[in-house]
Amino acid sequence: MNKDPHIIELPKKVVIGSSLLEKLPEIITSLGSFRKVHIVTGPHVKEAIVSKMLSSYWSGDLDYEVSVVRSSQIDDVKEVVEEVGATHADIVVGVGGGKSIDAAKYVSYELKIPFISAPTAASHDGIASPFVSLRGTGRVTSVKAQPPIAIVADLTVISKAPLRLLRAGAGDLVGKFTAVLDWRLAHRLKGEYYGAYAASLSLLSAKHVMSASNLIAGGSPEASRVVMEGLVSASVAMCIAGSTRPASGSEHLFSHALDMIANYPALHGEEVALGSIMMSYLHGKDWRKLRRRLQVMGLPTTAKELGVSDDAIVEALTIAHKIRPERYTILGESGLTREAAERLARHTGVIP
Ligand SMILES: [Zn+2]
Repeated sequence: MNKDPHIIELPKKVVIGSSLLEKLPEIITSLGSFRKVHIVTGPHVKEAIVSKMLSSYWSGDLDYEVSVVRSSQIDDVKEVVEEVGATHADIVVGVGGGKSIDAAKYVSYELKIPFISAPTAASHDGIASPFVSLRGTGRVTSVKAQPPIAIVADLTVISKAPLRLLRAGAGDLVGKFTAVLDWRLAHRLKGEYYGAYAASLSLLSAKHVMSASNLIAGGSPEASRVVMEGLVSASVAMCIAGSTRPASGSEHLFSHALDMIANYPALHGEEVALGSIMMSYLHGKDWRKLRRRLQVMGLPTTAKELGVSDDAIVEALTIAHKIRPERYTILGESGLTREAAERLARHTGVIP
């Protein structure tokens, strides 16, 4: 089943390099005749990065306002929507981690103005995708908003973020292997639309980080670049597909289930990576090789390392298929029994 017409919306500009936040006004001006910028950021990033950027580097005719987003809770984000709406800004810039970027994305979608994604860590693929995940909405999965008009990835800033965030970003990308396998399965069994180009692009981002696992383990500006490029191409794959399908399958359902059961116990990319070990076993793939790579990168591969109980892992595996029933995956329509889930987690060494 192909969508007709199939409309693809992509970012206009992707800028990856050193000391880019200093050039933000210039980059904004190059995108169009904007006059009023509204920066959405978190409290720590505001203090450490945004204040300095505004006092030292902000120049030209661009007016600016700043809003601080407290959390990813929908109520907090709606407050920011109101703040930005009141200033009549014509462009929003999200500077920070996933929370700030998601808030900026949501604001831009609600107010129908463009937004720029300026991530301060390469921790997951939401930084460049058209999908937004907010908390307190009654659902743990993401909803479609719009892609950023530009992505400004300042490697000088990103490479100073904690190494754990970079590793999590790589983990989110490794999950694309099983996401694409699930998508292909849904196409074959359910006749779901499948875009071979989007799938290939997403897979490429996973291969890209797998082959750079030693580099990623150490963390460096070059490692940040590799992960950031992968995250951008996975996001572009989602833009092309028009859904999160190329980037999110059973390994993501497992991660969302775990978040529900254990209240967001670890970083998104860490949970996804652990899930992808178990899901590649179910797909009959070389899960041992995948696990070895994750270990090299320094990602958790057991329940203990992830900081959750064995029971939470098993429970998450049994409810994962219910998180998003319309998304068919290797978990099938009835999911895993408790026995099957336990066997799976034990066999792949996730639980002892
Ligand atoms: Zn993800």
